[in-house]
Amino acid sequence: MHVLICGGGVIGASIAYFLSCRGVKATVIECTGLACAASGKSGGFLARDWCDGSPLAPLARRSFALHAMLAEQSADDWGYRRVDTYGGSAGFATGRSRYQLGWLSPNVTVSQLLGSLESTAQVHPRQFTAAMMRAAKAQGTELRLGRVTAICQRDGRAIGVEIDGEAVEGDAVIVAMGPWSILAALWLPLPAVFGLKGHSLVFDTGMALPSEALFLEYQEQDGAVLSPELFPRTDGTTYVCAISSEEPLPIDPAEVAPDPGAIEHLEAMCASISPALASAEIKARQACFRPVTSDGLPLIGAVPGVTAAYVATGHSVWGILNAPATGEAMAELIVDGAARTVDLSRFHPGRLAPLDPARLERTTAPGSQPLQIGN
Ligand SMILES: Cc1cc2nc3c(=O)[nH]c(=O)nc-3n(C[C@H](O)[C@H](O)[C@H](O)COP(=O)(O)OP(=O)(O)OC[C@H]3O[C@@H](n4cnc5c(N)ncnc54)[C@H](O)[C@@H]3O)c2cc1C
Repeated sequence: MHVLICGGGVIGASIAYFLSCRGVKATVIECTGLACAASGKSGGFLARDWCDGSPLAPLARRSFALHAMLAEQSADDWGYRRVDTYGGSAGFATGRSRYQLGWLSPNVTVSQLLGSLESTAQVHPRQFTAAMMRAAKAQGTELRLGRVTAICQRDGRAIGVEIDGEAVEGDAVIVAMGPWSILAALWLPLPAVFGLKGHSLVFDTGMALPSEALFLEYQEQDGAVLSPELFPRTDGTTYVCAISSEEPLPIDPAEVAPDPGAIEHLEAMCASISPALASAEIKARQACFRPVTSDGLPLIGAVPGVTAAYVATGHSVWGILNAPATGEAMAELIVDGAARTVDLSRFHPGRLAPLDPARLERTTAPGSQPLQIGN
């Protein structure tokens, strides 16, 4: 069996890894670069029970456990560690701190312990994605640079893809192109996937900052509230994200760029939150889009009406957390015919109406504007 995986983000790489563990040959097709999008530019924060009470809970709990197992079993290093996680406020309306975090400015109030070493952890998402792909390649997976331009079908069955116009045959095809999975609605009956933009900075803070994660409500002078997330990492960097926007998704992943002014805004906020950030060199100023669906749940499963076509996307803010369990369940679905470790029925793509391809054709025609659907 040969499985074609469209998209080299954390979801595509994790599916490839778990398929390779089952002895299945896969080819991951990536148009821009492995983990070039959200999978390389996100926080990498992991929580065992923050999805409890939602349909995501079993997927998240299984995935949190898998992250720990993968880190323990592998000789590779992707910055996995358990962290204490705090919540608080900063900016213009602050109160008394219950917890003292030495790396923060006095105007930051840390009032809550949101997670402990038992329940919260982190990875470096780009390194995790790269390590999953390395492990998959060691077991026979191929990574191919190229743009998927169509999914080929015969008699209601997916039989391959076109890569930059060249047909490549496969026994199954998986769409895992993050927010760009919306383009697959041109070829398959799939619901819309939208992209929500976020901005982030990576600081070179050195090894002095502790293994703590921090979620803040930051009130600005004009009353606006931002929600920065701060994650010191094992490689001596500190990642901070905030400032979402509803800017349209560029059709080419290589063209994602920060909104005008967003990076300067984020830099000023970081400087006021922590002297360690104020004095650190900034290694990356970036933006990326997380893939979301209209009901907030991912699409994971077989595409209705097209044999051997599958989708795995729409993981929103929990794509790094939920990648391993998604990969494991997709491998079970493809190899065994059903997922065993996690019940995927709540994530079935058939629960949402397919997007009308005519709406996409208008927006993806040469010379047209970036993807506007849903934005
Ligand atoms: C600011 C921010 C912070 C986040 N923090 C966290 C966090 O702390 N913890 C967490 O669990 N999640 C977090 N997330 C969410 C997480 O990053 C995403 O859910 C996850 O990365 C999505 O992975 P993906 O593989 O589905 O998509 P992507 O990472 O978008 O990968 C899709 C890939 O498909 C490729 N592609 C697109 N079109 C084509 C084509 N036609 N042919 C071939 N390849 C194509 C792209 O180049 C890209 O590499 C965050 C997201 C954002 C935006």
